[in-house]
Amino acid sequence: MSTAGGRTPLIGVLALQGGFAAHGRALERCGARVREVRVPTDLDGLDGLVLPGGESTTLMLGFAREGLGEPLVEFVRSGRPVLATCAGMIVLDRERLGALDLRCERNAFGRQVHSFEDELDLDGLDGPPMRAVFIRAPWVAEHGPGITVLAAVDGHPVAVRQGAVTAVSFHPELTGDDRLHAALVTAAGTQAD
Ligand code: GLN
Repeated sequence: MSTAGGRTPLIGVLALQGGFAAHGRALERCGARVREVRVPTDLDGLDGLVLPGGESTTLMLGFAREGLGEPLVEFVRSGRPVLATCAGMIVLDRERLGALDLRCERNAFGRQVHSFEDELDLDGLDGPPMRAVFIRAPWVAEHGPGITVLAAVDGHPVAVRQGAVTAVSFHPELTGDDRLHAALVTAAGTQAD
């Protein structure tokens, strides 16, 4: 399957650690070609990128080991579409790679509440509310004016947008609701034209 008008977009999935395989399957269901990203050259020629959840401290160590931090920031700054989920959002914040003008609070919903689900209405997403699975999830504690909040839980932002980056606290790859992946593939297909 190819997206309307463009060639089939090639989307990278950061695959150092964490839940990358399910993202790859979701992207393929949406018609993308998928490449796992482990070293900087894997970013070459990508039309879009997913930063999966996992453990942000482990991811940051992996970036240092592979020299991936600066290339990831450059990728975000290039304006190509990015979907960042959970730890993938945390590593982009001001205190880590500094690619997003926000600060995440890690494990923000409390250590006792390791996991919960909610129904979220995301601004800009057509259709019914999205079932959102939160696993030791962050929330956005502070953000600058360039950040648009798409959804919040108890007043805390859990889905945001900055330019071509959509960042969410939850795990859209676990529910079979591929709308965020589809939006990424569509945006990446426009890049690929
Ligand atoms: N708690 C993890 C962290 O702080 C994030 C969890 C996740 O990605 N599901 O990095």
